[in-house]
Amino acid sequence: MSSGLPLGVPKRQPETEHFWNATAQGRLLLPRCDDCDSVFWYPRGICPFCSSLRLSWVEASGRGRIYSWTWNTRGEGDFSGVGPYAIGYVELEEGPRLMTNFIDVEPSQLAVDLPVTVVFEDTGEGSSLLRFRPA
Ligand SMILES: [Zn+2]
Repeated sequence: MSSGLPLGVPKRQPETEHFWNATAQGRLLLPRCDDCDSVFWYPRGICPFCSSLRLSWVEASGRGRIYSWTWNTRGEGDFSGVGPYAIGYVELEEGPRLMTNFIDVEPSQLAVDLPVTVVFEDTGEGSSLLRFRPA
């Protein structure tokens, strides 16, 4: 799947390797703390709520709702010359919020609480970027 948006290849870290490998298989994993049961974003090696190092992974549904959005008409860097595109936060069913691009959507459709679902865009480097489209 390709939205036509730039595909920055994620930098791999030991604590995110499993996450990125899963995205290449079309799976969205979220880190979960085995001590306080918090599910959080972004993947990292320590729980942001209780500092536990005992973490595991849970598979997310890929569904969520738009928490906030903006229609960007002037991209910079890799996004210069791309044309208008949507960027914002999605709140996943599991609770965490993550920044993303909304694709296959017209500006008039964008709204807080709009149901969206994940789309995996292959970087060609063994990972996929997470983007969301209306459900
Ligand atoms: Zn914790």
